[in-house]
Amino acid sequence: MADKDRELRQDVARANRIIERFGLATAYGHASARIPGTDTFYISTRRSPGLADENDLLVIDTAGRVVSGNGAPNSEFWIHARIYAARPEVNGIVHAHPLACIALTQIGEPHRVVHHQGGVFVEGIPVYERIGLIRSRELGDQVAQRLGNGVAVMMRGHGITTAFADVRAATVAACFLEESADLQMRMLNAAGGHAQRIRAFTREEAELARDQTGPNAAAAGRAWEYYANVADTKPLGG
Ligand SMILES: [Zn+2]
Repeated sequence: MADKDRELRQDVARANRIIERFGLATAYGHASARIPGTDTFYISTRRSPGLADENDLLVIDTAGRVVSGNGAPNSEFWIHARIYAARPEVNGIVHAHPLACIALTQIGEPHRVVHHQGGVFVEGIPVYERIGLIRSRELGDQVAQRLGNGVAVMMRGHGITTAFADVRAATVAACFLEESADLQMRMLNAAGGHAQRIRAFTREEAELARDQTGPNAAAAGRAWEYYANVADTKPLGG
């Protein structure tokens, strides 16, 4: 039990460092994991995710109460709290501010599956339109509602949130989503801004890609291993 708990805290700290090292977040952003079988979750304190430490996490519950830990909570912890409240099967959440995803939302282009690692988003990604930080229970509920039963929500002019069965999958998916959005932007640019020229995957192709490369597929363990090892060796801001 103690070993499992330590591993979970290590995963949360690593997930936070990954989103910073891979450019999905700078000073702001956070990853969390539900403590199994509870309505509480581990989340980093209010500092850059790149500085997250497994021994310095907060435990917050779905009503927004800080149950244990030292330090201030991130002001947007409500995203995590209310998604965990709405989705009992979700055990890992990442909220980050990756630039290509933000760019897509601000030109009104929906996310489209344009490469294998985008396959996990085959069902489409809803956009949460409201500008501003998610600093209340009510706003957290609105984001959870927009997410619905999906795995990700794009937040216009703001960022993304991914929600999966574990924090590793949520983290890998966040990295895949930014990679996908970046590719989509490049394709749009190469196509002279004509979105219809992008050869987005058909549903069948996207499902195949999801099954072969998605964060729940066998290959995902390898993705987490890679991201985690790079995050362990790359310098802050690297
Ligand atoms: Zn945010």
